[in-house]
Amino acid sequence: MNNITIAIDGFSSTGKSTVAKQLAKHLGYVYVDTGAMYRAVTYYAMRQGLISKLDFNKEALIYQLPNIEIRFKFNETLGFAEVYLNGENIEKKIRTLEVSSYVSKVAAISQVRLKLVEQQQKLGQNKGVVMDGRDIGTVVFPDAELKLFMTASAEKRAKRRYAELLERGDQVEYEDVLKNVQERDYLDSNRKDSPLMKAKDAIEIDNSNLTLDEQFKKLYKLAVMTIEDYE
Ligand code: C5P
Repeated sequence: MNNITIAIDGFSSTGKSTVAKQLAKHLGYVYVDTGAMYRAVTYYAMRQGLISKLDFNKEALIYQLPNIEIRFKFNETLGFAEVYLNGENIEKKIRTLEVSSYVSKVAAISQVRLKLVEQQQKLGQNKGVVMDGRDIGTVVFPDAELKLFMTASAEKRAKRRYAELLERGDQVEYEDVLKNVQERDYLDSNRKDSPLMKAKDAIEIDNSNLTLDEQFKKLYKLAVMTIEDYE
């Protein structure tokens, strides 16, 4: 079977990573979570005291970018690759509402995008990859053979994210999660550099009323058909 590139873009909490992991597993492809990379840079900025509710020292972050090394290591037990920042496993630490509240500001910085996009292109250079994010089909892999664009209502997405955070044991309010989802939608869609948008040749999937199983079956079928087309 030929290897293709599968680009999955869309709004926050549309379940991109869930279906991307499922597809990668069933196709024997590599899964790359690019949101985790932007979250890792954000986590670094928080740790260095460069970003807070009141202040964001962008210049210092840009200056320190060469000090940031992001890697993925496959975890056999979990069945997917976890993200490491300068050798430390930060997979769980980057999924908090606090990181989510800053990440879109960090992701709007061109120098940050330049660094991460270069790494993402290297990770996918041999194809056989499922990559999810906001600009995969438009900027990172504009020639991807299969492009998906995921949507769902903001309320539905916030409910899913809220349930996930509660399950982790985080103390959060639903209203704050909804506000964060809406804020990130706005910032991600309106930034100057690589805004979130549907690529012309992307297939839009509204999963508001799809179960995980229905969604997976639909997208797996699409992936297999696309792979066959390229054989
Ligand atoms: O996918 P996830 O919600 O983890 O992404 C976190 C944030 O990282 C997004 O809200 C967006 O600001 C940024 N991002 C991006 N480009 C990508 C992936 C994520 O700007 N390719």
